[in-house]
Amino acid sequence: MREALAARMRFYRELGIGELYRRPVDAEQVWGISVEASAVGVEEEVISPRRSSVAHGVEFESASNPRSPKSRDQGHPVNKVDALRVIQEEIGDCTRCALHKGRHTIVFADGSPDARLMFVGEGPGADEDAQGLPFVGRAGQLLNNMISAMGLKREEVYIANIVKCRPPGNRTPEPDEANTCVQFLNQQIEVVRPEVIVALGATAATYLLGQRQPLAGLRGRVHGFRGSKLIVTYHPAFLLRDPRQKKEAWADLQIAMKELGLKRQGTGNREQGTEGGE
Ligand code: URA
Repeated sequence: MREALAARMRFYRELGIGELYRRPVDAEQVWGISVEASAVGVEEEVISPRRSSVAHGVEFESASNPRSPKSRDQGHPVNKVDALRVIQEEIGDCTRCALHKGRHTIVFADGSPDARLMFVGEGPGADEDAQGLPFVGRAGQLLNNMISAMGLKREEVYIANIVKCRPPGNRTPEPDEANTCVQFLNQQIEVVRPEVIVALGATAATYLLGQRQPLAGLRGRVHGFRGSKLIVTYHPAFLLRDPRQKKEAWADLQIAMKELGLKRQGTGNREQGTEGGE
């Protein structure tokens, strides 16, 4: 917890929020168990049932859980892990576009198949290509901080990219590459069925929404997307280059939190206040 709090404090400092301790703080609130719930601000009763009930296992579509994966044959169980494995097998040792020539690893995804929140980036970089996991480099560190500032753990969310193979020199994927690959991401979304998707940057927004628009016109509101709510924000790599925009990104993440019923940080059970530079 200490590490998580330290990471959160670093993220706040990077956001320019530096006055969290202006008022005397109850030590128990900071270090006790209740602090975790308060600092994290997660409505456990909202998060827990989906996290624990499926445990990547068998789930049935039902009125009480309408977001469980759709079975083609109504009433038959659908296992998300199996369904994702089928997609991965269909991708195989993919040579559908030119990106395969330079890649070491196909980066499928990371996180929970039962996630309520999905992040979509552009494409793997060098670290991701080497490790086979999305967002494990510097941008990934920042994404981890963003996730923990939302009161979530990386393992609780699902992370994927528009393209699964590293574009040479980290260039933006070409339209034919992105259009070829995005069909698999769309299948992953169908299986995971997140309530909220956060598109990280213009490439993710463009190929998810199917329209090219400046980020400014897409941010700050909720888009409908295949039964999920889609929120657009800056790519963490951009935020590393221009940290002043982190405040804007934090505002976008708070839209996602609101949609998920996650409380803002440090408010505990109280109404949301203005403490901490919010
Ligand atoms: N940038 C992305 O868009 N995706 C990754 O996985 C890593 C960096």
